[in-house]
Amino acid sequence: MTTATRGNLFILSSPSGAGKSSLIKALLEKHQDIKMSVSHTTRAPRPGENDGEHYHFVSEADFNALILSKDFFEWAKVFDNYYGTSKAAVEEQLNQGIDVFLDIDWQGAQQVRKLVPEVKTIFILPPSQQELANRLNGRGQDSQEVIASRMAQAKSESSHYNEFDYVLVNDDFDTTLAQLEHIVMAARMELSAQQSRHAALIRDLLR
Ligand code: 5GP
Repeated sequence: MTTATRGNLFILSSPSGAGKSSLIKALLEKHQDIKMSVSHTTRAPRPGENDGEHYHFVSEADFNALILSKDFFEWAKVFDNYYGTSKAAVEEQLNQGIDVFLDIDWQGAQQVRKLVPEVKTIFILPPSQQELANRLNGRGQDSQEVIASRMAQAKSESSHYNEFDYVLVNDDFDTTLAQLEHIVMAARMELSAQQSRHAALIRDLLR
């Protein structure tokens, strides 16, 4: 009987407006063996977001209870709201051999790196300041103040890009998606994973 090779853990971070959500959506649609961890958050759902799918939307009291019961792998306050990744969701998937992506900020990435040194971390940058401004401007319905605050948040998030293993510049969507896939595929071919996956073959070849 072969045991499932443990899945790899990835972190994908970016400033908002870099196109991360669309990339994740496309990656999951193409690869059924990659899953996204669904975080808990205290922020309100945005239109079109569903509880349990995009996030587990919880109150601050519930979030604090999860911190106290040590249910979180990592958690952080990101600007005005709390966000956390539950241990259970991640461990179960990895043990089943599924690759798990965490969409978390730089603070969460720092915590996970300490707990799981082999985690592969990826940062996505927008292709230019102008393009970022266009994307954050949305439908042009927000005040200059709101847009300026989003730009400042994006700059603060981006300043952590050099803590990550891989940096992708999302200029062309299909190219960036392919680059993400290459990172996942390369991780699957790493020595320790292949030794576990092909233990019988290697034993036979070296007999
Ligand atoms: P949003 O509110 O736009 O969905 O997410 C805001 C930020 O929170 C993003 O940078 C996202 O990566 C981050 N985030 C989402 N879930 C988590 C989490 O579980 N932990 C941490 N540390 N950050 C998260």
